[in-house]
Amino acid sequence: MSALEVDRFREALLEERKRVEAAIQNLHDENPGTLAEDAGEETAYDNHLADTATETYDRELDYTLEENSEHVLAEIDAALKRIEESTYGTCTNCGTQIAEERLEALPWATLCIDCARDRGRG
Ligand SMILES: [Zn+2]
Repeated sequence: MSALEVDRFREALLEERKRVEAAIQNLHDENPGTLAEDAGEETAYDNHLADTATETYDRELDYTLEENSEHVLAEIDAALKRIEESTYGTCTNCGTQIAEERLEALPWATLCIDCARDRGRG
């Protein structure tokens, strides 16, 4: 992979990092306190089911989103580190060059498509 291409992926990673960080911040802003304090908040679901179960569901969903976001953030940081170490774009399992279209879709991919399939991660 050329330095130019690596630069392009670095830009994409930094951009995505900003987006994920904003999403995490947003989740924190939306859920500053306890469940009870959130109960009065308008949500898209309130029109249909404004009950406690829905509030709980929303909250669990947010936690899942946050966990995912923080996971992605860690993956992005790891990818940026690999760029610094000049190992970016190489499968960490078999050492093959990861296909560029895969990196386009998932700039922080650590596995080539074959290894990813072997591990059942898509
Ligand atoms: Zn591989």
